[in-house]
Amino acid sequence: MTPSSTSACARIGIAGAGLLGRLLAWQLGRLGHQVTVVDPAPGPAPLFDGQGAAGFTAAGMLSPLAELDAAEPDVAGRGWHSIARWSAISALLADGATATGQDEAPAFTQRGSLMVAHGSDLGAARRVLARVAQPMPGQPAGCSPQALDRPALNALEPSLHGSAGALHAWLLPGEAQIDTVRTLARLQAQAPGVQWRWGETVEDLSPGRWQTRGAEAFDLVIDARGVGARPTWPVRGVRGEVIWLHAPGLGLQRPLRLLHPRHRVYIVPRADDTVLIGASEIESEDRSPVSLRSAVELMAAAHSVLPALAEARILRMDRNLRPALPDHRPRVHHEPGLLRLNGLYRHGWLLAPSVVDEALALMGWPPLPCAATMPTSTPASSPASA
Ligand SMILES: Cc1cc2nc3c(=O)[nH]c(=O)nc-3n(C[C@H](O)[C@H](O)[C@H](O)COP(=O)(O)OP(=O)(O)OC[C@H]3O[C@@H](n4cnc5c(N)ncnc54)[C@H](O)[C@@H]3O)c2cc1C
Repeated sequence: MTPSSTSACARIGIAGAGLLGRLLAWQLGRLGHQVTVVDPAPGPAPLFDGQGAAGFTAAGMLSPLAELDAAEPDVAGRGWHSIARWSAISALLADGATATGQDEAPAFTQRGSLMVAHGSDLGAARRVLARVAQPMPGQPAGCSPQALDRPALNALEPSLHGSAGALHAWLLPGEAQIDTVRTLARLQAQAPGVQWRWGETVEDLSPGRWQTRGAEAFDLVIDARGVGARPTWPVRGVRGEVIWLHAPGLGLQRPLRLLHPRHRVYIVPRADDTVLIGASEIESEDRSPVSLRSAVELMAAAHSVLPALAEARILRMDRNLRPALPDHRPRVHHEPGLLRLNGLYRHGWLLAPSVVDEALALMGWPPLPCAATMPTSTPASSPASA
């Protein structure tokens, strides 16, 4: 049987309990389908050993504009779509966390993000800014970059006060961030009726069937294995490394991206005085621990804009592989009995709801919940071309 919009309850097997797998399981469980998810990880929680889902390692920047530095305009359009979904999904998951007595820390915030550049790097920053400042399809009104003068920057982010005098800054209104670890935990814990099978690998899959410890039949099989979908799809892993810091009192309110000629470095505040610095991007499928070079470069760049990080404590260094297709674009493939989703690359959290909605539409199923997205802060500022 092939499920369609008329199938009240389809038997669905999802290979992979990473970002796409959990988001699909949550939505399909809510729609009343009978969902089974299989993943080689020993359990639902991350081990931060470089082996599990890339979704856990991600810093969770939701940056439709800033990602234009490394992506085509359709990524921005998909990103605005996704931010509206994450806003609604996170609200539902927060309610669920309260109802079930789980940790209630917020997992989604939309205060815009900052791009900053040292005076000596202004030329390189302006090239990025010229690309980011182009209006993009789907961009909500009021979400163009805004140059910030020193008082406006100090008012928004006092923690940047002690940084080098010639720091240039731009606010990207409407951009957001998501706590990846909390969100993946909540999606898994709150997916209605879903059966999770850990420590098991899908060796092979085809329309309506997969092979794990034995062969199993479903109405629909979904391949959400990321890098694990090879060799069926020409997906490769792109290594990325992040540093977790404990920085009490830092007070950073929104993600901050340093425009630098050599490094793409961002600093992302999370609950519990935690700050993530990310991320390297290396053409390698090496899953071994973070290199000294990456650690030094990431932390030195972050310290150059936030000197107060000097006394932060290093909690963890993590690494993983971003699943990338040759054109660096996401892809959804559908044939009767089979859906494949992959290629989320470096913007997986930014793209996942849009990609999942594309897959749901192909099946004739309702989309993810949605909220209106609005830029949330409009400081005294001037046009982007500062
Ligand atoms: C360092 C780093 C920083 C990042 N930062 C951001 C960011 O700030 N913003 C953003 O939008 N994106 C970011 N990303 C990208 C994002 O994490 C990925 O694009 C996203 O996680 C891909 O989702 P996925 O579900 O396809 O793969 P994954 O999340 O990797 O999940 C794949 C799952 O499939 C499972 N699997 C593998 N093989 C099999 C098999 N044979 N059988 C069953 N299961 C299998 C794996 O165990 C895993 O659980 C970052 C990534 C990295 C590495």
